[in-house]
Amino acid sequence: MKSPSAPHILIAIDGPVSSGKTSLSNAVAKRLNILHIDTGAMYRAVGLAAIRLGILPEDEKKVSDMCEKGLALVDVKFKDDMQVTLLNGEDVSTAIRAENIGLAASTVSMFPKVRRYLVERQRAIAQKQSVIMDGRDIGTVVLPNAPVKIFLTASAEVRANRRFKQLKSKGVKADYKTILEDLLKRDEQDTKRVHDPLRQAEDAFLLDTSNLSFKSSLQAILDRVNAVYGK
Ligand code: C5P
Repeated sequence: MKSPSAPHILIAIDGPVSSGKTSLSNAVAKRLNILHIDTGAMYRAVGLAAIRLGILPEDEKKVSDMCEKGLALVDVKFKDDMQVTLLNGEDVSTAIRAENIGLAASTVSMFPKVRRYLVERQRAIAQKQSVIMDGRDIGTVVLPNAPVKIFLTASAEVRANRRFKQLKSKGVKADYKTILEDLLKRDEQDTKRVHDPLRQAEDAFLLDTSNLSFKSSLQAILDRVNAVYGK
């Protein structure tokens, strides 16, 4: 249990696909005994909702209507301190991990009505408790006042290789070339979109993990937190 006088910790982590945001954020959250919010999971839930309703992720009007009419209610809850992502009350944490849902998420995340809906949900979550929140626009849009902001990056090849190894270790059939192509396509969509594109906040600390071990990357983030919160 955290003491009532414990500081309200806000850590924003942004970066491209497979830059290690999720695993590093989980590790930081565990160390600091705070929650990790994976905002990508929330965009994936909207992408999944569209596909389930037979709506093309590219169809801005239908996807936006779906959100406005409350047909894709996205929420998160925590089980053993791990995020469970809910779509209309159903636990979709596994379903949203399919490769095609990642691309659908990247597409629906271009639409301002989808972003507005999810950004509001994310801010409400961060207001209630200490969090480390990862995504693409956390330091720039969702939590622009977060005292700790990290922009994680690594070369496309390193990221594709990590993803390839991760899928293989799970026994999932994977093709490096397809993974790299998918990653480059999502990078392009995420950095070139008009609304809240992926970019480093001016006051964010740039951490390139291409040649860093997981342990060193984690330490670099904890050092930043320590410098601000004295943890
Ligand atoms: O992080 P993840 O790859 O699971 O996110 C899926 C997609 O959701 C990303 O490609 C990105 O387009 C979108 N996203 C976003 N803003 C966030 C988090 C994710 O636009 N804060």
